Amino acid sequence: MTVMMKAREAADEVYESVRIKIDNWNKAGITPCIATILVEGDPASAYYAQAKNRMADKLGIRFELHSLPQDVQEDVVIQLVKRLNDDRSIHGIMLELPLPKQLSASRLESIISPLKDVDGVTPVNKLATLTGAEGLYPATPQACIQLLKHYGYSLEGRNVTLVGRGQTVGLPLFHMLQRENATVTVCHSRTPDIAFHLRHAEIAFVAVGRPNMIKKEMVHSELAIIDAGINELNNGTITGDVEPEAALHAAALSPVPGGVGTLTTAILFENLTKAVSLQHREVPHP
Ligand code: NAP
Repeated sequence: MTVMMKAREAADEVYESVRIKIDNWNKAGITPCIATILVEGDPASAYYAQAKNRMADKLGIRFELHSLPQDVQEDVVIQLVKRLNDDRSIHGIMLELPLPKQLSASRLESIISPLKDVDGVTPVNKLATLTGAEGLYPATPQACIQLLKHYGYSLEGRNVTLVGRGQTVGLPLFHMLQRENATVTVCHSRTPDIAFHLRHAEIAFVAVGRPNMIKKEMVHSELAIIDAGINELNNGTITGDVEPEAALHAAALSPVPGGVGTLTTAILFENLTKAVSLQHREVPHP
């Protein structure tokens, strides 16, 4: 029978440990605070920012939403990031994507303080993700691996096919899988026959952003699939990159919604607790 790798239980475990850490910081007189920069114009980003706000409230974390107009100029955003970097009461900074054309995500991300980079997007933390050095790793790739392990899978020595090599999910996930000692094949937009690579895989991760692109005919009964895709259809439904019918033909599949995305949000807050620790080690609290 196919296992649906739902993330609720794994996410609750993360939230429980986050809650304990936040309580301890509160007792020490520190209120962890996360600042989100939202450039208006993308309803999905606004929705995710609100969802994080509600969760932060539940966890006792202060949440600052910095909404900027759609036509904001880059130097205004740069000044805001610099101000948040310098503000000792802010522990985490997130820049919601996508951004309008006049703004460069990579330029803006590169000026976030690595110690406050809860999304793991700065060059310093990207390098840490690659090497395994201490740092703040991107949340979604962490969620992919953690969800798989929660269901009892190990990665060492496994044949893994990764579909997608994007900056947010696929590429950092590739580095993390290497460090887990998996044998990884990376497929992308120029790979002619993805089904071939799935046939030889024991575990697959899919992070493309094309609804239902992995068809049931492409999977097999021994394959565990983690679907990181989040796609909004015209009728407003959210779907993954793997068609739901594939669940019947695979050993295990993470659902969308209710899979990687659910755990990603929890790990973002876990990253915040790491960020607080890093900052209070780096700059001793009076
Ligand atoms: P991205 O940067 O746009 O990268 C997409 C990747 O897919 C690229 O490597 C691209 O190949 C590959 N690709 C495109 N068309 C393909 C095709 N026909 N066959 C095979 N590969 C193809 O995407 P991303 O930002 O990494 O995000 C990937 C997905 O994860 C999206 O659905 C996004 O919404 C989702 N996501 C989920 C979460 C979460 O919390 N669950 C968080 C962030 C993102 P090339 O490199 O050759 O162009």
